[in-house]
Amino acid sequence: MRLTCPLCGDRDRREFHYYGAEVYADRPDAGAALDAWDDYLHLRDNPAGETRDLWYHEIGCSAWIVVTRDTVSHRILQTALLTARQRQVGKFVYQEGDLREVPAKPGAATGGERP
Ligand SMILES: [Zn+2]
Repeated sequence: MRLTCPLCGDRDRREFHYYGAEVYADRPDAGAALDAWDDYLHLRDNPAGETRDLWYHEIGCSAWIVVTRDTVSHRILQTALLTARQRQVGKFVYQEGDLREVPAKPGAATGGERP
């Protein structure tokens, strides 16, 4: 399998680490209710069709990438960078196809770090 990193181009899947569904990036705030943490840790959709997953370009540029794929046909439909625009509140937001550098606030984490 091949994945297209938005920064590095077409690469072998073994250069990436799979982190699961995109919702993994929607970590609840530290003081969130237990139900929110229970949902985050234990409940996952298992769709037949289009899904979005998080991949980390471990042997490459260290970027977090959202891969849109079809779980039935196994086709990769799109890849996009995951940016850390709202890192300060414990949330990640990305925009498809957004490859611009996002200015970080002082002390904020960069998009290349683990969520
Ligand atoms: Zn890369």
